[in-house]
Amino acid sequence: AQELPLPKRTRIFTVVNQKGGVGKTTTAVNLAAALAQAGARVLVLDLDPQGNASTALGIDHHADVMSTYDVLIDGEPLAAAIAISPQSDRIQVVPSTIHLAGADLELAGMERREHRLREALDAHLRDLGEPPHYVFIDCPPSLGLLTINAFTAATEVLLPIQCEYYALEGVSQLLDTIGRIQAHLNPKLDVSTVLLTMFDGRTLLSRQVVDEVRSHFPEQTLEAVIPRSVRVSEAPGYGQTVIAYDPNSPGALSYREAAAEIARRGAA
Ligand code: ADP
Ligand code: MG
Repeated sequence: AQELPLPKRTRIFTVVNQKGGVGKTTTAVNLAAALAQAGARVLVLDLDPQGNASTALGIDHHADVMSTYDVLIDGEPLAAAIAISPQSDRIQVVPSTIHLAGADLELAGMERREHRLREALDAHLRDLGEPPHYVFIDCPPSLGLLTINAFTAATEVLLPIQCEYYALEGVSQLLDTIGRIQAHLNPKLDVSTVLLTMFDGRTLLSRQVVDEVRSHFPEQTLEAVIPRSVRVSEAPGYGQTVIAYDPNSPGALSYREAAAEIARRGAA
């Protein structure tokens, strides 16, 4: 396995794009797996009621398990809801359950409704002798209160962009929202990382999207680009990331490259 520099302080990424199907969950779980393989301790928080990140990391998320719902709504300590991924004992997961589907509405009537995840995560990290090096928060495809909680808790935004028509559609709205978060809730939030997903080198469109995104986000866009590959889409069906499912496939390789860039940038 490759050796990567480890950050001195926990880096907390929120993986966000209000469009569905752009590769948020795939990115969150595969970067987590790649970084864990390279020696990092990683915590994944599943904030999507669909629970796809939990599934891909082999974590049970039927309605009765403790989840991010219990943490956000009932104020349960985060540690009480942590499960260990069977893929690696360095990957901890707080799963989501279907209860989370109503959480945006429930949060709307609560006190400190934008801060609940940050407060839970702060309290958790403060108590740990060996805190995680990375936290990845997998967001639902919306800019509702769950995603706002993720923005407030995070230090960095990771924006996956699919190499498809209308790739940048919605991105300016997303950046407006992030601007408001920075002004009112979390001045330290940094849009540090953009990752191009589902690239198909045979199409002109894919190459055009890459150029367009790189000119929009010259600093943030990673060199690594994730190819469209069936192995990536098959892996969750086996409760696995592609890193575990087919480590030498192009998808696994490019997620390891992306993870290495993220680790080296953080060390710089
Ligand atoms: P989001 O979380 O943004 O909704 P997902 O990560 O769930 O997006 O990806 C949407 C679908 O595309 C899933 O079925 C996933 O398996 C598939 N997918 C994601 N990345 C790739 C890829 N690089 N190649 C092929 N399929 C992919
Ligand atoms: Mg998802």
